[in-house]
Amino acid sequence: MKKRFKKLLVMIMVFGLIAGTNLWVSPVALKAAPMTPSIVQLSRVYTYSEMCQDINELCAAYPNLISTRSAGVSQNGLSIPLLILGNPSAPNSIMIQASIHGREFVVTQTTMAIAEYYASQFASGNYPDVYASTCFYIVPMANPDGVTIAQTMNKDWKSNGNGVDLNRNFPTLWEMTQGPSAPASKEFKGYSPASESETRTLMAVATERNHCCFINYHQQGNVIYYDDDFATPGVSAMSGLLASNISMLNHYRLINAKSSNAAGITAMGGFNDYVQLTLQKPGVTVECGTAYGAAGQGQATTIYQKNAPTWAQAARVFAGK
Ligand SMILES: [Zn+2]
Repeated sequence: MKKRFKKLLVMIMVFGLIAGTNLWVSPVALKAAPMTPSIVQLSRVYTYSEMCQDINELCAAYPNLISTRSAGVSQNGLSIPLLILGNPSAPNSIMIQASIHGREFVVTQTTMAIAEYYASQFASGNYPDVYASTCFYIVPMANPDGVTIAQTMNKDWKSNGNGVDLNRNFPTLWEMTQGPSAPASKEFKGYSPASESETRTLMAVATERNHCCFINYHQQGNVIYYDDDFATPGVSAMSGLLASNISMLNHYRLINAKSSNAAGITAMGGFNDYVQLTLQKPGVTVECGTAYGAAGQGQATTIYQKNAPTWAQAARVFAGK
């Protein structure tokens, strides 16, 4: 047993050297759960307008650490805010997006709370290495129309306001994706690739800087999908490295998303497909909690506490690369 473990360790080290990666990033020492956020409330259903109000409050509370601008406009005319957290002249950046699926709105709230956590930590001089190395480009609600529909009309709604599932609308192998042929609450890929303004907004944020990696928050399963069909070995290795560092802290189960049978692939055109195959960058899909929508509301605090330390860890994985 001992021998096998040693062999595995050596294999991992060799693999790490080949991939040019640093596998030995020590986890963030976290003695207690992160503080309860004072601006972002985790206890109740979080609407688009509450998010906008909190963004203004965060910018006012931390003027040198958080800035915002509109990254685009949804199909129904709502501005899609982008937050830039940390030191904008840091050499690295990480893009984080949440709630591309309407009914998965709890991850907007937890992403906002984590942004507040780092702003307060940076303001107190904590995580100095992360502040020096990395800033965070955050789209906390990628699909505001879908979130609003899920909160007010149809709790199972995943699509945007046009009935397009945005996570199937990206131009990467879009033609392979199957599903409904007309607008629907989920899984309709649209009439053409990148037909939706929300899709184009995420593509614009993804390419405006040379982001070192991408974290995509969805809701549910307590799992992390890290690999992608057709990803190159280099992108697969880096995505796996990112996923295992995040998993070390939030304890979500890792799932290799690579299909065992390429002929059976029916869903491409996702944002992480775009990240891994088109941009050739590492990306992970973090599925938080065990329920979606309002049913997952009671898990918001746990999701926040488990995932707060992972952003610093992701930054440390890529620092100096
Ligand atoms: Zn989702």
